[in-house]
Amino acid sequence: MAGFSRFGWRVVAEAITIGNGKSTAAKLRRAKELILDFTDPTHTDVHADSTSGLGAPIQPVRVTIEDDDPAPVKRRRRKSTSHLKLVPETLEHRENLRLEAERFAKRLDTSKPFSRNELETHGRAFLEEVGQPEGFLGFAMVLIGNYFWKRQFLATPFNRRMLLLPHCLKHAEGCPADYDQFGLDCEKCGACSIADYKVRAEQLGYKVLVAEGSPIVLRIIVEGYVDGILGVACLNVLEKAIDKVLIAGVPSYAIPLHTGDCKNTKMDEHWVWEVLDKYEPLPQAETTSYVPLMRASGKLFGERFEELLPRIRTKTPEQKKSVLGLTEDVSYDWLANGGKRFRPFITLAAYDAAQGGQIVAAGPGAEAVEISPGVGRVAMAIEAFHKASLVHDDIQDDDLYRYGRETLHRSHGLGPAINIGDYLIGIGYRLINMSREELGAEVACDILDSMSTAHIRLCDGQGAEMAWRDDPNWEFSPLDALQIYALKTSPAFEAALYAGFRMAGQADIYKDLVPQFCRQLGVGFQILNDLKDWQGDGDNKLVAGQDALTLRPTLLLALALQAGGAEAQKELQEIFDSREPDQMRLRRIRRLFIETGVFEKAEALVEKSRERAESLVDAVESESVRQLLYFLVDTVLAPESEEPEIKHDDGLAMSLPVVVV
Ligand code: SF4
Repeated sequence: MAGFSRFGWRVVAEAITIGNGKSTAAKLRRAKELILDFTDPTHTDVHADSTSGLGAPIQPVRVTIEDDDPAPVKRRRRKSTSHLKLVPETLEHRENLRLEAERFAKRLDTSKPFSRNELETHGRAFLEEVGQPEGFLGFAMVLIGNYFWKRQFLATPFNRRMLLLPHCLKHAEGCPADYDQFGLDCEKCGACSIADYKVRAEQLGYKVLVAEGSPIVLRIIVEGYVDGILGVACLNVLEKAIDKVLIAGVPSYAIPLHTGDCKNTKMDEHWVWEVLDKYEPLPQAETTSYVPLMRASGKLFGERFEELLPRIRTKTPEQKKSVLGLTEDVSYDWLANGGKRFRPFITLAAYDAAQGGQIVAAGPGAEAVEISPGVGRVAMAIEAFHKASLVHDDIQDDDLYRYGRETLHRSHGLGPAINIGDYLIGIGYRLINMSREELGAEVACDILDSMSTAHIRLCDGQGAEMAWRDDPNWEFSPLDALQIYALKTSPAFEAALYAGFRMAGQADIYKDLVPQFCRQLGVGFQILNDLKDWQGDGDNKLVAGQDALTLRPTLLLALALQAGGAEAQKELQEIFDSREPDQMRLRRIRRLFIETGVFEKAEALVEKSRERAESLVDAVESESVRQLLYFLVDTVLAPESEEPEIKHDDGLAMSLPVVVV
């Protein structure tokens, strides 16, 4: 949570409660939930303060490895790309490049947002065309991206925009503003330009966050409060934004800082003033966006939740507290709160794409999307089955935390947790059945068949993993690991996509593509998770190397065994039989993994999954379906960006913020 103390809970609270009349305490509580959502090590949501009797808020406990620990497990980073993030030194040079980039970008197809790879390809082609060095690649990508987004951004009403400023713009030596849990609280002393921008932007109606691209940004967008971003940041931060925000279709205009020094930084201020107070509406959207569908997915678990899944035993507060109401209440709470709703989003997006992608084509500022009850319930069922599997998975792994609070078996006991997992499966069946009248019995049955098959395959994969853990077989090969991954992770993506296509009457066309594509997506995603496990407090686990310590049959382990042969087998056997402290064992495993080159091999396999998935998508005829599948590849298999650590002048080390999908 270290970095999050810097982000504005107050600002977020304001941003997320516009017009909803909540109390300040409620605003702060909700802001905290949002922030926890994005810090959740379990990759899904956090519900810090349950209203359903789950007890007091529970903060995620992060176990960090101190400097003097015997087994420092450093965060693995992507190869440095800092040599590609140079900014031309003179204003004249920067302005020339900007003009040339606009000329170049006019020739590009701008009907849909560029993926990061596309932007990089265009950036390279542009630099070659104008005879400029590769070092300006990041800068060129920003310029081309800005050309693409400028008209869309200017068409966003002021009160739907967010201005993101970096605190490093401040006057480092004399700034009287403090950092507190609300971020940089600018006192508007006038010593730097932050105050000027903040005052003017707030007058216009912008939400202003002096914290760069904080991880809450996309959530604020998805919650429906912001449709466009004007962001000032160094090229490192903008690189992440390209990965995570731009591909979702959020109009974003970026102003690059001249350096990434994180102290007394500078930018071309007139670039900000050129767009800050300009509003130029467009008759219609000029590009596509997945944001309205993300919002629609979120609403299924928010304002539409109880309409689509009415309570039976817990209609009153008294019933919620009763013995008979407990299971329903906790299950509903677990389903409604937590998770990025990514799987339901896939279902809604597939449904839209198979019908020509009209919602996506309506663009980022489209009015609220109306999802019919039947389609909404099917999307919710996907989430119900997924949540059920997580409850049981937490029990099997004896995980302590999920969504930043105690796992259900820890807070409610083993028996009740198993029961709640079962209950969620029941909810999944019920939701599909409830959609039968609208969708027709045949469609409902086909979707049920697909979801039950997915659930069975997941259990097969989970069973194989547990069996291996109970009786490790050191002949375990990479192929074995990949088979487990294909069973455990791919079916949920497959069921989500299939459901959308089936509801749109297009399932037959994609019957071969969906399983093949989802296999690549699921396998790549799981390998990325393996790699993140060694990052410690990344998306996945609380302690670095936890998968290895608990003897999960991961691809990394299989690759080490394959490369290290009998010696690696002996070493691993010894490590797991030994009574050494965890940190000692971790250090030995890590050394073995490095010596056998497993991290590089795993990264190469993710890339291979990505390439295979993309080559499958290349052959898809429908433009809207093809766009969705590329988007899924970009989102699910996004490589981890380089994330340099910086020292602030106040001596607090923090990471540059990330914008997370
Ligand atoms: S204007 Fe605000 S951010 Fe800039 S130096 Fe003054 S107090 Fe600090």
